[in-house]
Parts: sequence; structure tokens; C-alpha cells
Amino acid sequence: MRWTYLMVAALTITTAACSSDGYGPAPTPVPTSVTQSGNDQTAMIGTLLPTAIGVTVLDQRGSPMAGVAVDFAVSADGGVLTSAADSTNAQGRATATWVIGNTLGSTDNAVTVTVAGYAGATPVFRASGTPIVSAYNIELRPLSPMTPAQAAAFASAAARWSGIIVGDLPSDRVVAAPGDCFDNSPAQDEVIDDVVIFATVDSLDGPGGILGGASPCWIRDVGSLTLVGGMVFDSADLGMLESLGILEAVILHEMGHVLGIGTLWDYMTPSLLVNGGTADPYFNGVNGVFRFGLAGGGSYPGTPVPVENQGGPGTADGHWRETIMGRELMTGYVSLTANPLSTITVGSLADMRYTVSYANADPYVVSPVNLRMVPEIEGIWIRELAPSVTVRRVSEGGIGR
Ligand SMILES: [Zn+2]
Repeated sequence: MRWTYLMVAALTITTAACSSDGYGPAPTPVPTSVTQSGNDQTAMIGTLLPTAIGVTVLDQRGSPMAGVAVDFAVSADGGVLTSAADSTNAQGRATATWVIGNTLGSTDNAVTVTVAGYAGATPVFRASGTPIVSAYNIELRPLSPMTPAQAAAFASAAARWSGIIVGDLPSDRVVAAPGDCFDNSPAQDEVIDDVVIFATVDSLDGPGGILGGASPCWIRDVGSLTLVGGMVFDSADLGMLESLGILEAVILHEMGHVLGIGTLWDYMTPSLLVNGGTADPYFNGVNGVFRFGLAGGGSYPGTPVPVENQGGPGTADGHWRETIMGRELMTGYVSLTANPLSTITVGSLADMRYTVSYANADPYVVSPVNLRMVPEIEGIWIRELAPSVTVRRVSEGGIGR
């Protein structure tokens, strides 16, 4: 008798596993419950929210539903989804990463999620934008006399970059000998918060020719970002740049190189510069490439982001490609009309692991307008010193470190 009882019990269990109620096949699952995660976060405008936003889709029995089509869409204020799932995973979950827009406040940043087959209210995510308060400290150290206009241009450039790079970096100690960062740099033994930039105006090669140069000198062991860098400008050319109204743009451009744009791409792991030294070098950081597409570069037939392949050392491999990107600040040629600092450049800094805000980028559309048609008229070739500074990691510093 006992044996028979056990057989019946096993049969009952088996039957129950095949049907929700024991009286027929399970009903077709439908999205019945959608829960949100990551709603109501706060971040500086133009920055990536710290946590991905996400939905979890359950059926009428409370089981996760995989493969449900979802569509995340920014519904207010021009923020950007930098990645977004288009269907739920095995856990019933779909997520998106969100760089919020430029409007302050708690209600203007919104993303809606359409869940296929879900009859309930459309899930809405909101985020609150706060003003940019940069924790990235650029310390300028002039090593030569400057005119008030020059000093103002340096200060303005530092303020601009510290409104784009907003996150603090680990402090580190630099031990350096005189002349380690261009010929005239002083000895150093100090702990640097974020970055120190030496600036020099000196006679280089007379009017025309080389306008200047800039480079990181000491970089962090971890992450390879700049601790100390230098910028030098030819005193014979600065008056010309000022009279053309492009002094600030050129200084902003050179400071970008100190921070690593075009100078530290191949110090990153893996290298952000691919095919350097060839006819088709390109930058392959995900944020730079994504922003290139958003800025109108989607029809570019090559591999984005195109990097300069002409101009020789000092220009090639260290700038965006002039024939594709025209007026952008970080091409090797400065426009006489406008030199927008684009979201592509900001994205490239994010790819170097700087914490950035896109809120202070300039409007820009990928276009070859103002390519170097007639130098001295349409634009000026920012002829820069070929790389002459040894870039060193701080662990390669002096005795006693
Ligand atoms: Zn340059």
C-alpha cells in the first residue's frame, strides 16, 4: 500500500508542473507588471547618471519575461541615451545609460520606456540636473612675462576645460629635474591635485612657421592622465593671433593637448589611436565615436573618428581630420570664424576616463567647412612643434620618490 501511495504522489507533482492550475495548459504570458530602477537620480547637467536606469517586466504569474521589446526614448530636454537595451534579458530586465540634458531642475529631464504588450501606464524616468561644480583643478604657472590679453586667454582656457572635465583625479607626487617639461621648467617635488600647466611665451622661429607646442610631461601611473604639462608659444606670432581674434582658440587648443587630446591616445590601454602613421588613422573610443555619429558623422564612409593623416609630426595622428571635421577646435587648423569644442572632443576625454560634462560643449555638426583652403585667409595651420618632450610616468621620477 505504501508503494502505491508514493506513486500517486509523484504523478500528482508531475502533473502540477505541466499546468498552472492543474486543469489545462498555462496561459500565454503577457507583460503584467513593470517595475523601474534608477528613477529620480541627481547629477550635474550634461553628465552620465551614476546608475543605469532600468525596467523589469513580469508576467501575470510574477515570472520574469525575457525577449520583450522595449524602447527607451528621451522625452524632455535633449539628454542622450548612450546605450539602451531593445529587449528584456533572461531576468526580465532592460537597462539604459543616460547622459542628462543641460536644464537645471527636477522635472525637465525625462526618459519614457515603451514596453511591447504592456497595457499599464508608460514608465517615465526623471532626473534632476544640478549646476556644474568642477572638482578638476587646473593650476597655471606662467614661466615668462605675459601681456594682459595673453594671461586672460590662458585663464579663460583653463576655466573652459575645467567646466568640461568635472571630476577630481587622484593626487600624486611629482619629482622632476629642471627642464623635464620643456627647456625652462623648474625642479619639482610636490603633490599635485589634478594638473599643473607651465606656460611660456618665447622666441621660437620668428613670424610664421611654428606657432607653438604643448605636451603632457608627467602622467599618472594608473590611468596615464596628465599631472604636469607645458605649453610654449612663439612670441613673434601671438600678436598676429590676437589681431585675428584667435588667440583664445589657439591657447584652448594647445591646452587640450596638455590634457591628453592627441598626445596620450596611445598611452591608453587599449590604445585609442588605431592605424597611427598610416593614411587612415582613427580614434576608436566608444564615446567619441558615438558622439561623432550623433553630430552628423553617420554618413562618413570610413572608420570613425577620423584622425589627421597630413601635416607631418606635430599635426598628423594628433588631431581630428581637417578634411572631415573642418572647424572643430581640435583639428590641426584654426578657423578664423569659429572653432567649436564639440561633444566629440568631450566624448574623447570620457574615453580617456576623465569624468566629463557635455553641457559646456559648443554646437557643432560634422562638416569639412573651412578646411585649409587658403592658409592665412580661411584658416591658420596651427603648426606645432614636433613631439620633443619625453612623457614619463611619475614612477619614473627622481630619487626619493
Ligand atoms: Zn594641435
